[in-house]
Amino acid sequence: MSIRLNALFALILLSATVSFAGGTISSKPYNEPLDTRLPADLHQDLPELGDVSQTVLSAVDEQRIAEQILAEVSVSDEVLADVEVVDYLQSLGNRLAAASDDKQQEFYFFVVKDASINAFAMPGGVIGVHTGLFLASNSESELASVLGHEIGHVTQHHLARMLAKQKTDTFKNVAGIALALLVARANPQLASGALTTSSAAGIQRQLDYTREHEREADRVGLSILENAGFDARGMPAFFRVLQRGSRFMEGSAPSFLRTHPLTSERIADVENRVAMMPYKQVASNLSYFFVRAKLRANDGLAQTAIDQFEYNIQTGRYANEAAEHYGLAVAMLRKNDFSGATKQMQWLDLHAVKSAFIENLKARIAVAEKNPKKAAAQYSAALNRYPESRALIYGYAEHFLALKQTKEMIELIKGKQQLFPRDAHFYDYLAKAYFREGKDLLAFQAQGEAYYRQYNLDKAVEQLELATKVKEGSFYEKSIVEARLKEFQRLQKMSKTE
Ligand SMILES: [Zn+2]
Repeated sequence: MSIRLNALFALILLSATVSFAGGTISSKPYNEPLDTRLPADLHQDLPELGDVSQTVLSAVDEQRIAEQILAEVSVSDEVLADVEVVDYLQSLGNRLAAASDDKQQEFYFFVVKDASINAFAMPGGVIGVHTGLFLASNSESELASVLGHEIGHVTQHHLARMLAKQKTDTFKNVAGIALALLVARANPQLASGALTTSSAAGIQRQLDYTREHEREADRVGLSILENAGFDARGMPAFFRVLQRGSRFMEGSAPSFLRTHPLTSERIADVENRVAMMPYKQVASNLSYFFVRAKLRANDGLAQTAIDQFEYNIQTGRYANEAAEHYGLAVAMLRKNDFSGATKQMQWLDLHAVKSAFIENLKARIAVAEKNPKKAAAQYSAALNRYPESRALIYGYAEHFLALKQTKEMIELIKGKQQLFPRDAHFYDYLAKAYFREGKDLLAFQAQGEAYYRQYNLDKAVEQLELATKVKEGSFYEKSIVEARLKEFQRLQKMSKTE
């Protein structure tokens, strides 16, 4: 009991306020290939943090913990499933990660539906970002500065060091953690009640980032920000905003500040570093403004959002005018105001604003209008222009599914699948189409591949076993299923013995 709960606290506290939330992350399935390298490339200039080999979880351990967390993330209701927002965050994160020193580290970003201002890193490069953080930032560089800071915690393995210091063998208890998390989710009162006990507070203290961690994450984050071509001044600027905010919100400081204690000394340190960097004016990407507009448009009552966007447009209160028109259209669509939403689309066309967000919204309006011909034409044209937009691919697949056009749907998904080999949704769509066509073997197989990509090996094996029991299917299809089942069983065995 105590070990399991300790582990639970560890993860809960690690993740700050998160309850593991949903959505699909296009991420790497089980260890392919399994990375057995020790994180020996840990940065040489950190003598105060001690001998690396003794105090850090191995890369394999970190990867396993990451997979456990991602399995929770992929099924949680608290994770935002909006693929447009998730893909934007992942591409921003990838751009930053590519500018870090540790090129081997994989990163998995997801969005938590939570208005509080927070972001958090977990072992194995899993980084969660609250919707509140998107909305509190004033520029893409500011948002990127917090991501850079979190990436810094990951590449310096701060959490892995703290976890390794725990007397309990955390990694061996990971299965227990996952179980405990399920319990906590089913019974949040139990978990939050337990969190107030003194032992929980003790663990929290042990897992708090130290000043050295924070300084180091700032330093690493700042250089990532600069190398990735963002405005480094975004970091001290955003820190100031957060600090000012915390003064007005007594007792409810932004959660980011609670988990990453922000001192004036820290801000001064960052400001001094930035002062030595060359001045750089960096414009935020249009997608940054559209993501924020979409989050605002979907928050609270649709009418309140509409009023706000209209007021901003009338009074010129916006950082990006096109995003206000886009957000207004999203909010109008929520109220089935098709002509109002279409008018906003026309404004964007007239001003020659080009974005996959706009093309996707046009298609969604056509779907909501129950005009399948218009929707199909729009999806097809939009995908020609933006062939890698997952939002368009999902939308088009849903369209085919609704019309029972399974052949077209399978053709679409198969044509795009090689672009996103880790995406579980593509296999979900395939499974649905195959079941509808009565091709049970292929359907069970696709379902198994979907579970595999959600880090759920038990269910993946179950589905492939069902596939082997189907009578029809060619010899070729059957042997693929057999081989895949063996591979999944091998991975399943490995994950249970380690
Ligand atoms: Zn921090």
